[in-house]
Amino acid sequence: MADQIRAVAYARVSTREQAENATSIPAQLEAIRHYCKQKGWILVNEFIDAGRSAKTDERPEFQHMIALAKKNNRGFDVIVVHKFDRFSRSRDDHVIYKSLLRKIGVNVYSATEQTDPDTPHGFLIEGILEVISEFYNLNLRKEVFKGMKENTKMGYRNGGVAPYGYRLSKVSNVDGGIKTILVLGPDEEVNVVKRIFHMYVYEGCGAKKIASTLNEEGIPSAKGGKWAYTSIHSILHNEAYKGDMIWNKYDYNLGKKMKPKSEWIVNKDAHPAIIGRETFELVEVKSRERSPRSNPFVPGKSPFILRGLLKCPKCNFNMVSSQSGGKTKAGISRKYYVCGTYLRKGKQACEYISFNKEKIESIVKEVILKEFTMMCLPNSLLHEIQNYNNEKNRELRYKHDALERDIELSNDRVQMLQQDLKITPDNETIKKYIEDLKSQIEEYKNQLSDINSILSTKINYDNDVEIIVGDLKNIVTTFSSKLPTEQNIILHKYVDKITVNNFNNIVSIYLKIVSPVTKSTDETILLEKVLYGEYLR
Ligand SMILES: [Zn+2]
Repeated sequence: MADQIRAVAYARVSTREQAENATSIPAQLEAIRHYCKQKGWILVNEFIDAGRSAKTDERPEFQHMIALAKKNNRGFDVIVVHKFDRFSRSRDDHVIYKSLLRKIGVNVYSATEQTDPDTPHGFLIEGILEVISEFYNLNLRKEVFKGMKENTKMGYRNGGVAPYGYRLSKVSNVDGGIKTILVLGPDEEVNVVKRIFHMYVYEGCGAKKIASTLNEEGIPSAKGGKWAYTSIHSILHNEAYKGDMIWNKYDYNLGKKMKPKSEWIVNKDAHPAIIGRETFELVEVKSRERSPRSNPFVPGKSPFILRGLLKCPKCNFNMVSSQSGGKTKAGISRKYYVCGTYLRKGKQACEYISFNKEKIESIVKEVILKEFTMMCLPNSLLHEIQNYNNEKNRELRYKHDALERDIELSNDRVQMLQQDLKITPDNETIKKYIEDLKSQIEEYKNQLSDINSILSTKINYDNDVEIIVGDLKNIVTTFSSKLPTEQNIILHKYVDKITVNNFNNIVSIYLKIVSPVTKSTDETILLEKVLYGEYLR
């Protein structure tokens, strides 16, 4: 009796594919088992990579299988996959692994695609399948985009959590696929949303006032904790509440940035509205009236210049002013910044944490004015901004290099095939393969030029820098002579927050410099940077 062929199965599904209802691992294995049975092969082992990305190196079971295959006593003769794209999505990996396996006498079979790798014809078919699988991979982004656009138009969600006041609900579409839609949440939440809009539009309350009112009443936020004014803000500007579904609003390539409205995919009345369109429009009007974009913070009369900036090290909420008046024997003021949560809600909410006003303010002033002075030196700020933005481009540069390498490899392959064609000039399959490769190279080149154009767009920061440096020079020379409220406004313009580590007394000042010349509705961050000082108790 001839030796029976021993097969191993390899199955793979990535996290993304799982989400997209691709052929599941059990279904892949089922097809492989059936195929082996038909062929009269004995299935001796199964290697499974689940929930991983398609990059070869991240597939431990695949690596394990290849390592075994290299051994003399590997215990199997062939590898069977459901489809060749399970074996590898990248043509380079595919070629490398398959030629390696072929050299040591292991052939790879697909349970659902007809090919015989032993014949030259089969070899070419495989090559074409590889190209197709690669092509599919390259087009995945486009396909996913198309699918998501379609989803939006049909009123289906493209992932993400439901906005406060709504819940997600599963439905099946005409093709029997499972889709997600938005439905109204519990009445309590719906009423809170209505109230937020009402307070803002008709009662003249700002986001901060609304947040503190809800917190005082003990109404939990979407995440179950306290309301932040920023979450009130995002509710007020979320089109979902007027029943509209909007997708493709933000560009996440280089940080979260709003795309031009022309690129938004909008589906009006996609789900039940909580707020009337008129009220929603009024929010936009009110918000323009309320806050000049550059400084949404409304200053008070407090002489505490770190108001709204200094955060409690324990609960992360604002530290607020507390004064017992007078001075200590050493002549130090008894004015303090104290945790606002503690003052409002008592010691069960947060500890009594305090910083002496004079001490903390003087260290912050010292560190910031020193930094601002440095930034006024020629080219200093410009360099920092460029470095900060270069860092953001690093990932793109990595993609760029990978594409260049892919083009080179594909060109080599075309040359090899053209040599083959000299021997058999009428071979249509080789011709077709060369054509496929060439169009693939074109696709690579298109992508490369897209990336190049982003990378080579030298954003000119000269205008920004000129305005900012002018402002900083002014601040450095006049800050001390300004009123505390003015100092507070200046700090809010450049500082995001200030924290003090309660154990080592290190003060962290989070600088955030926003473009003064940007024309989009969203702020453009030019530079983020943390400055350090020490709080001397
Ligand atoms: Zn606190």
